[in-house]
Formats: sequence, C-alpha cells, structure tokens
Amino acid sequence: MEPLIQASNVNVTYQYGETKFQACKNGTIDIYEGEFIVIFGPSGSGKSTLLYAISGLETVDSGDIVVKDVNITKATPKELVDIMQNEYGFVFQSYNLISRLTCMENVILPGALAGRKSDEIAKKGEELLKRFGIWEHRNKYPSNLSGGQQQRVAISRSLINSPSILLADEPVGNLDSSNAKLVMEIMTELNREGITLLLVSHDPSYIKYAHRTAYIRDGEIVRIQANSHRKQIKPPTKDDAGRSRMELLMDSYPELVVYGFPHMEPIVKAKMVAQYLMNPLDSKQMIELERAIEQNIEGKLQGNKFVSKLSDIHGAGLTKKAAVKFAEEVAEIVAEGELAAKQGESDSLQKAERLADRLRKILREEFSFRLSPAQQKSLDIGLELRLASQIKKEELADFLARSQKKGGVGLSKSVSKDIAREVELAILVGYKEEN
Ligand code: ADP
Ligand code: MG
Repeated sequence: MEPLIQASNVNVTYQYGETKFQACKNGTIDIYEGEFIVIFGPSGSGKSTLLYAISGLETVDSGDIVVKDVNITKATPKELVDIMQNEYGFVFQSYNLISRLTCMENVILPGALAGRKSDEIAKKGEELLKRFGIWEHRNKYPSNLSGGQQQRVAISRSLINSPSILLADEPVGNLDSSNAKLVMEIMTELNREGITLLLVSHDPSYIKYAHRTAYIRDGEIVRIQANSHRKQIKPPTKDDAGRSRMELLMDSYPELVVYGFPHMEPIVKAKMVAQYLMNPLDSKQMIELERAIEQNIEGKLQGNKFVSKLSDIHGAGLTKKAAVKFAEEVAEIVAEGELAAKQGESDSLQKAERLADRLRKILREEFSFRLSPAQQKSLDIGLELRLASQIKKEELADFLARSQKKGGVGLSKSVSKDIAREVELAILVGYKEEN
C-alpha cells in the first residue's frame, strides 16, 4: 500500500529581519488513505507550520511532500492548485469565513473557484448545510452565527469539492466544550466515511480517536505513536514487529504517554508498568471486558456471542479455549451470586453448610475425591473459620492440606489451593457476612 501523503525531511525557516527561526526540522511522516492522524504538541512547537507545509500553504526550504504522486514542493502552480482544490479541504481555528459573503456563498466559493457548475455546487452546498444542521442560516452573514455554527459552515466549505484529505488546524480551539464535542464528532464521522484526517491539536483528548499521533517538540516530530485501540491502516513495518515491550506498553496508554516514557512522572511510570505486568489487558480492554461481563450478567450477551466477544476484545489474546473457560467461570460465579441473593436471609451457618455441600460436590466431581465423615467435619470447621474471617485464604488452604492426624482435611496442596480459591469467589459474590 502506497501512502497518500509522503512528507520527508521537510524544513521551514521563518525570518524576521536578521533573525532566522527554524519552525520545522526534518519533518517526516507517511500518511495513508483513511487514516486519522493527530499532530500534537504544545503551543509554538511547530504544528501549524508542519500542517501548512504539507498543505502547500507554506513554502519549504527543503524536503519533499508527495501527495498522490505529485511532489508539491516541485509542482507547477497548476498542479499545486489542482491538489489544493481537489484533494485538500481546510478547516481553521478561526473559521476564516469571508464576512461579506453569506454562509451559503462561503460554502460554495471553493466550488466556484474550481470552475464547477453552479447548480451542482448549490446542490452540494445545500446537502452539506443540511447535514450539519445550519441550513436555516444559509442566508445569514458569518458574524450573526455562533462559533460552533461558523465552524460547521467552514467544515461545509472544506467539503464542497469532495476532498480526499481534510486538514484541520485546532478546529475546536475557539469553541466551548459542547460545540467542540459536536465539531469533533463531525470530524471523526467524516473520517469513518473514508476521508483522511490530519488534525492539529494541543489537546491530548483527541489522541484516543486517532489511528496515529505525531508528537512535536521544538519543530521536530519526536515520536509517531500508533493507537493500539484502533485497527491500523498503515501496513506494519519490520520495525513494528521488533518493537520493545516498552513501546508496546506506551501504545496502551496513548493519552498518558505524551512525550514518551522518559518524560513521565515516576509515579505514573510505576503504575503503568505494574498494571502492565499484572494484567495482560490494557485499560481500554479491561473496560471492554467489564462491559461484556456486565451484559452477560444482564442476560444480553450469552453463549457463543459472549465467548466470541471475549476472544475478540481488540485482539486481547484470549484464545477461543481460554474464552470458553472464562465464560464458564463467569457463569458459575453468577449462579453462586444468584443463589446467595435468593437465600440472602438464611443465617451464616446455613450459608456455610451450603458452601460446604457445594465444595464437597466439587471435590467429588472434579477431583474424584470422596470425603470421609471426619474429613467432612474438618472441612466444615475450616469453612466456618474462613467465613467468619477467623482465618485467611492461605490459612484455609494450609488447613485443607494439613494431614487428618493434625486436624486438617488431608487434601493435596493443589486441590487445597483450588478449593480455597473457590471459597474466596463464593465469599466475594455473596456469602460474606455484613460486619
Ligand atoms: P504551533 O502551531 O505548534 O503553535 P507554529 O507552527 O504556529 O506552532 O509556530 C512555530 C514557531 O514558529 C513559533 O515559535 C512561532 O512563533 C513561529 N512562527 C510561526 N509562524 C511564523 C511566521 N509567519 N513568522 C515568524 N515566525 C513564525
Ligand atoms: Mg498553531
């Protein structure tokens, strides 16, 4: 797959009087058709400069920007205009609408400049204004509209020539949060429909929606990070395959790891690493897992559907077999919980008895293990102690594994551990006494 845009070693220098300032240093990025790319960095880091270089609006000192096989840094004026009119749509922070034209006139202007038929662009303009909920304002001047409405006019204008790439420079920077949300929803929806989206932002909250984020500092792209929560469009490279665990870890926390691991607070690093080591699922997958279980408990996601959801949680790596096992365990726990809830009024002794019965059954069925009356009695004692919080989980396991001579149940270590675990689950889902 060829990239739609290939920027390589792009340099831009601004000059004021004697002073020169390099605002873009060796900017290099490939962008694939359909991608949503965020260019992220603090104010003054050179985000807009890179965007405008890619768009052809800024003259570069050196470097290449190839858009659909046309190198726009070396293109003829006609080729450049052609790319700008047919491939690119622009949205700016300050809307950049022409104040003396009505909204509709603003929207259709790029169509007219491209020499398209007036009835055709009028139809397209109507479609866009209606889609974005501003048709009723078509004959008003921009200054009579709210910021959110003006930006929707600007988005309509950017789409009039059906571009393949949308370039947006802080498009919600001037909007209140609800309008910002609306405009970002429009942008992500356009991307889902296939438009390639290049979004400049200093706000990290959009990173999670992007396929990839280019982090910029002092005019340089310091890192391009793929979002592990989104299926990637960019074909994997050899480098991706050999990625370190640290890089994979950072993929899991795209909004936390802004400039890379070395720049993070130690406490955040520690939390991330600990979580990663203890749990193969990242935070987003964990939420999905919880949601799937919740739906299962509510009876909305059952059987094979539940299993395939479990094995499908964004490639969480639950094999089919593991997912089946997992689903069974969830079902058992839920059943225990329901049983406990139904019989909620029973006294603790009855609960302990029921639990003991259940565990005896498990021992019989799963471990082909029959308890002698003496063992049964010991088991009951152990359970009662545990349920009354007199002993801990590990102590129960020890007790179960202790020889009968010494007053234990005489089970093997591994069976004892399994039983102790069952007891903990049972306690968790409803056997626990109120303190
Ligand atoms: P960002 O979009 O990340 O805020 P910019 O790309 O706008 O950053 O600017 C990067 C740097 O280049 C800033 O230090 C800014 O002051 C400087 N700069 C931007 N545009 C010009 C210009 N036209 N002339 C001189 N300096 C500029
Ligand atoms: Mg800017």
